Order: sequence, then structure tokens, then C-alpha cells
Amino acid sequence: MAGPSSDKPLPPSSSSPEMVAANLTTVFNTLITGLHILHYNGVLDAYGHMSVRNPNNGSNFFMSRNLAPALVANSSDLVEYYVEDAAPVDPNAPSGFIERYIHSELYKRFPSINSVVHSHSPQVVPYTFSGVPLRPSIHMAGFLEVVPNFNITQYYEPGDNQDLLIRSQRLGAALAAQFSSNRTLPNATQTEADYAVVLMQNHGFTTVASSIELAVMQAIYTQTNAGIQTTALTIHNAYPESNQQALAYLTTQQTVQSWATMAGTADRPWGLWSHQVRSSSLYQNLLDPNQTQPASPLL
Ligand SMILES: [Zn+2]
Repeated sequence: MAGPSSDKPLPPSSSSPEMVAANLTTVFNTLITGLHILHYNGVLDAYGHMSVRNPNNGSNFFMSRNLAPALVANSSDLVEYYVEDAAPVDPNAPSGFIERYIHSELYKRFPSINSVVHSHSPQVVPYTFSGVPLRPSIHMAGFLEVVPNFNITQYYEPGDNQDLLIRSQRLGAALAAQFSSNRTLPNATQTEADYAVVLMQNHGFTTVASSIELAVMQAIYTQTNAGIQTTALTIHNAYPESNQQALAYLTTQQTVQSWATMAGTADRPWGLWSHQVRSSSLYQNLLDPNQTQPASPLL
């Protein structure tokens, strides 16, 4: 197994071991809460996942072991992986998701990305194979200004398992390249992704952000936007008198300026969403100091 790639530029890190431990507990708490929020909102079901880059070592990232997101409850459910090859840092770690290459290759290509969500949202999937483009339809989804659609079929090689899963570094790198207007492979020298969301044909979507909270917000409002757009298309097509008039999506200026406003407000929905999952007996987050559920045998 490859060792940590210490020659890569790293995000700011703490030099104090006490701070490192405290920071990671907070990060794990936020990651687990985010997974529960995504499940609560139907963005993840038994499948799909979210990860976070290790704030103390940008060459590694964390995501849950092979477990339904709603059931992730403790740091023992989380596994640290190398960005370089998506191998677990601990060779004895519990088994992980096949598609963790989505996450590793995005962290590798874009140093500014700190969190990744991958979803099979049923509201979004129709836009991946119908030829109908997903367009920014509401002011909460300005980050959808341009939404590429990744067709994995174009990247299959003889002998590949064609189950649509991102099950190799090669396929992960191909997906990551879709987040850039310069899709040169293998890796462009680019810090930030050009696009927040990329659709995946017949599969779902992936979104990237600088924080867990923003990634969760984008994932939820990608799904909300898709649902609203579908409803608008449905009533538009059902009303003959409207056929001469196209749907009015956000203008480019509106997408840019609405997201500039809304991206700074993630604390408000996060406060609501985290309270919702904390109040539901389905979810247990044993790292949450505000957890109100009874102590779990997992402790
Ligand atoms: Zn998937």
C-alpha cells in the first residue's frame, strides 16, 4: 500500500496534538450529522456517500465504512483513505465503498475541495439520460449555472465491469475532469472546480464544496431544483396555451449573484437540518455533544 504523499501542498494544519484530536472530533461530528441530514432529505438512501478531506493532512480523507448513511453513528464507522489511490490508511480497516474513487480523484485534482457528496437522487436522475438539461430554476440553486453530464460509457475499456460504478482511479479521474472547463487528463493544474455539480448518466450526481455544510446544502438544493423544474415542465407541457413560451430559468447574472448571497447563509438551514436529525430516533450521532437520544450500546 502506498504511504502518505507528504510532498503535496497541504491545507492549513494544527501543530498541537490536542488541537488535532479536538478538530477531528468536530469534523467527524459534522460529517455524521451531514450524512443524517442527506438521508433525512432523501438525497441519500441506503446508497450514496459523503466524504471530508482531513483538515490536518490534505493527502488523506475520511468517509464511512460500507454502511447506509443513516446508520453511521461513531468515529469507528469512519475510515481514513489516501487521496493518492483511495487505499485505507489502516490496512485492517473495515471494508469501504467501491465508489470511493469519486472522492479521491476529486481531492487529487482540486486542492480547494474539502467535501464531496455522491447521490442517486430519484428527482435528479431523469435529467441524466432524458436529454432535458438541468437548469437553475430557483434562487437557492445558483450554483447550477452550468451542469455537465458525465457519460461513463465513453470511458470504458475492454474488460471493464460496466455496472456504471466509479470503481477505478481511471474512471474517478475521468469524472473529476468533468468538474473543470479544461478536461485535459490526467490532471490539470487547477485549484478550484469550475462546476459545483456534475450529473452522472443513468446513475446520479456528485457535488463538491469547500466545506461539509456547503456540500450538503448544494446536494439538497440540487434535488429541490430538479423537483421544481420537473413540476414546471409538467404543468407547462400540460397547458397548451403555454407552449409558445419557454420556461424562464435564471439568467447568468441571477445565478451568480443569487449564489453569492445564499452560499453565505448555510448556517441557517444547517441549524434546522441538524435539529431535525437530532430529534429523530432513527439517527444516532455519538459525537454530537447536543445528542438527546438515549445512550447507545455502541458506546
Ligand atoms: Zn453511485
